[in-house]
Amino acid sequence: MKLGAIKSIGWQLVLGFSLLTCIIAIAIALYNLNARQYMGSNYTSLAAVVVRSQSHAVMFRNALEDLRERPGDPDVFSSLENLLWRIPQHIDGISFSLQSNKLSKSDYHASLEELQEVKNRLSDMRHQLDGIISGDSPEKFLDQGQVIENDLALTYSILEGLVHSEAAKQRIVMERLGGIILVLVFMILLLVVGLLISLFRLKREHHKVMQLSQFDELTKLGNRRYLLSFAESFCKQSQRSGCPLGLILIDIDYFKYINDTFGHPTGDQILQVLAGALKDEAREIDVLARIGGEEFCVLMPDTDVDGAMKLAERLRQKVSDLTQQQLGVATSVTVSVGVAIAYQNEATFKHLYARADKALYQAKTHGRNRVVVG
Ligand code: GH3
Ligand code: MG
Ligand code: MG
Repeated sequence: MKLGAIKSIGWQLVLGFSLLTCIIAIAIALYNLNARQYMGSNYTSLAAVVVRSQSHAVMFRNALEDLRERPGDPDVFSSLENLLWRIPQHIDGISFSLQSNKLSKSDYHASLEELQEVKNRLSDMRHQLDGIISGDSPEKFLDQGQVIENDLALTYSILEGLVHSEAAKQRIVMERLGGIILVLVFMILLLVVGLLISLFRLKREHHKVMQLSQFDELTKLGNRRYLLSFAESFCKQSQRSGCPLGLILIDIDYFKYINDTFGHPTGDQILQVLAGALKDEAREIDVLARIGGEEFCVLMPDTDVDGAMKLAERLRQKVSDLTQQQLGVATSVTVSVGVAIAYQNEATFKHLYARADKALYQAKTHGRNRVVVG
């Protein structure tokens, strides 16, 4: 894959991350908008407070009935006194619960005002009850109590409806939030899988690009760039350690003639056979590369002139021994070889290469199919 394609995968990754960020941001914004009123609200406990207060309204009605039937009964007085004291407390409790439950104030404002007004009237009722205990007629108290009980029952039932409807909405919002979270988790998983696949592809393509940029398609040997990626570091290592570094340059003799006589595809085939033969002879630690059309090179760490000469000669011999069958064409092939050795005083790889190239030139001018040390 070309560099452009790798860049495009990079952009896909960036786009994927941006998309995920946007989706999460939008989901959080929607979540805030819709759920703020319902998060942290405990409508179950608010409903319990309202129902408990409703029971006191019923008890108040029963106590008024008892007073009508048994006007002088001290038990009825004490029950009424108790209720007139407890109902205002419950009204305060409901007010507090409503305000701390994040309900929209406009929904319960009227009911709250009504309850406050009832609370004031109940305080007046307490004074009236004192008079009845002292012997006053209970008629006015009973009439007012009836009205208050009706108002209380109505207001409580409005509040109960409000709380139940809010609780139902809360349930729906929670269900939707659960759905959104599931979708988000699924999308994140999808994206993570996508990113992993992209990363895997990127790595594979990167490996391919590295192969293409450093290796020769025809012979599968390293190319000049591959050689140079080792050259300077091998040179420096040799300078540091004092171990000699050998360089062999190999050039096929009269290759143009072979091409002209047998055709370019046959020339290609010979290059491949030759590369295989060189590979067989070179050591594992040697760096073998095709550095030009019909030129090859072996960089040999920790190799002195004797070792380099032996390998060069072996290579030369191996090539000239290749049979017509091995070459796949009715001819023989020879190579000229230039050898140079870098010792601690070698300045750069460039110098070493120049000496090997000069030796190769001498091998050519002295009749080819030979090894010359520079
Ligand atoms: P010398 O002995 O002096 O080296 O002679 P030569 O003919 O080998 O040298 P020259 O530089 O004149 O020719 C090299 C030839 O190698 C010319 C070119 O067409 C051929 N060549 C270069 N690359 C390839 C390739 O990839 N495949 C084939 N078949 N031929 C190639
Ligand atoms: Mg050449
Ligand atoms: Mg040649």
